[in-house]
Amino acid sequence: MKAAPDDQRLLLDLVRIDLALERAEDARKNPPQTARVKELIAQRNEQGRELVLRTNERDDRKTELSRIESDIEIARKRRDRDRDRLNQTAIARDARALEGEIESLDTRIDGLETRQLELMEALQEAEAAVAAQQATLDETTAEGQRLSAEGKTAVKQANDEIAALTRDREAIASRTPDDLLADYMRIARRTPGAGLFQHGTCGGCRMAISPRDLAALKALADDEVAHCPECGCIIVRTAESGL
Ligand SMILES: [Zn+2]
Repeated sequence: MKAAPDDQRLLLDLVRIDLALERAEDARKNPPQTARVKELIAQRNEQGRELVLRTNERDDRKTELSRIESDIEIARKRRDRDRDRLNQTAIARDARALEGEIESLDTRIDGLETRQLELMEALQEAEAAVAAQQATLDETTAEGQRLSAEGKTAVKQANDEIAALTRDREAIASRTPDDLLADYMRIARRTPGAGLFQHGTCGGCRMAISPRDLAALKALADDEVAHCPECGCIIVRTAESGL
């Protein structure tokens, strides 16, 4: 196939644009934030479950504390009532019975108050544990939101880049002779499509050309389209090629 050297050089621009397009397509499909956002979603679910556990624990302690407080209240009222009765009774047997009950109520109140203090402390710890877990969850949410927004921006940038590259590509493709473009497109499915020949090496596969192939390449007319014997891509020869 024949093509003017200037037209062949257009292929180098196409290679550059097609590589950039490939990178931009990849960036659009797989923004670097995606994997981390997925991780954060899983982490957030895990942290949410832990928050529920800690909240339940706190609520249990709250419930137990109010039960104890109500028990204390009842026992105190009963003791006060017993004391009033004790003050009013003149019957020794009743007085002894009331004293006995007051004593056992005192012991009971004492035990309940100890438990109340323990529970107040435990409740404080449980509140702190809930707050800490909520803070962790909030951090994860914030990081996830930040990265999602970054990911969206990256996708938008990639889309803009793809649009610009596609315009550039169309401009160059429209200047490239049809048969040369078709040859490039066919080859570009499995190789870079075309490469600048430099330092005895194919720009497509970076392989050195054998002396025999090199001699054939040197003998080839400038407007004859050459292909790399190694990778099959179009060898573009310019003044930099040293041929
Ligand atoms: Zn090659």
